[in-house]
Amino acid sequence: MFLIQFALNMEASSKFLNTELIDRHKDSLNKTNSPANKEDLFASITNNLIKNNTSIVSHYYVDPLIQEITEKTGGFVGDSLEMAKFGSQCDSKNLVVCGVKFMAETAKILSPEKNIFVPTLESTCSLDLGCPAPELKALKDKYPDRVLVVYANTSAEVKSMSDWVVTSSIAKEIIEDLHLEGKKILWAPDKYLGSYLQKETGADMILWDSACVVHEEFKADGIRNLKALHPDAGVLVHPESPSEVIDMADAVGSTSHLIKASQELQFKKFIVATDKSIFYKMSQFSPDKEFYEAPTGGVGSSCKSCAHCPWMGLNSLQNLDECVVELKNEIDLNDNLIELAKKPLDKMIQFNA
Ligand code: SF4
Repeated sequence: MFLIQFALNMEASSKFLNTELIDRHKDSLNKTNSPANKEDLFASITNNLIKNNTSIVSHYYVDPLIQEITEKTGGFVGDSLEMAKFGSQCDSKNLVVCGVKFMAETAKILSPEKNIFVPTLESTCSLDLGCPAPELKALKDKYPDRVLVVYANTSAEVKSMSDWVVTSSIAKEIIEDLHLEGKKILWAPDKYLGSYLQKETGADMILWDSACVVHEEFKADGIRNLKALHPDAGVLVHPESPSEVIDMADAVGSTSHLIKASQELQFKKFIVATDKSIFYKMSQFSPDKEFYEAPTGGVGSSCKSCAHCPWMGLNSLQNLDECVVELKNEIDLNDNLIELAKKPLDKMIQFNA
């Protein structure tokens, strides 16, 4: 096995978290689950979706209330690959993507004929921010013999220069396949997921140095302490987490995989190392089971994470309602970029099929 770590001299990924964002995130958490006008907002969103021929597609990490209204109005809640597929298959002229910006861009790339909107244009991702296209292009030029495989959590520009785009639900299979073909890989941007894939497949991978601000904060010591209190609990881990956390897992995988594991594994309790909004779906499928947030923070913590993505948290029922009523915050990508970025995305979808 052969691994070169490409060091970008980047600071920790938490540099993308400014005080104002953290304060707004805390504020949004306080409002979650108890908006006084929930019924009014649900009614307004429902009526305007019908009036404007619009559907909602949401990620498992957004506020449970948004997941609830998405399902009640015939929309779809899923992981980023499933969201993209639903977006391209649904009949609605307009699509509101509740998640982060790269998910809405992916929807636009796969369905350029549709109008794609987001509740807020500020909702981004530390992986997307940590992988600027010009810097990745410089690394790609340095290693022309390598296949560039990028995670879906990247900008349309980054996707457009890539050979493959993968989501966490299909990354292992694609890397394995490339490895069996004898291909060497240049991987961006999540170093923990890249390292996990390298270990699992034995592929020759050079890793970009970036991380998710949420998953990077999960701590093995904290999980050990929580396990001492709940020795009968299973541990579910998203592979954007550090390797010592992954090593403790009873199941490792994408959000969809973890939800399935929470249904199928025999444990009655789970410690979950991914965004806690996923508990909405896990509890829906297994109402008799208990779910605990994997501990974050502690010594060395930068995010003081609450196991909830600050950018996902910028989506609220209020700004979703405004988006659906006014059809504002449209995603706009030029045709050339769409054409280039669509190629690696289509390859992933075909591989999955
Ligand atoms: S949870 Fe992490 S990977 Fe997902 S959108 Fe937020 S910062 Fe990005």
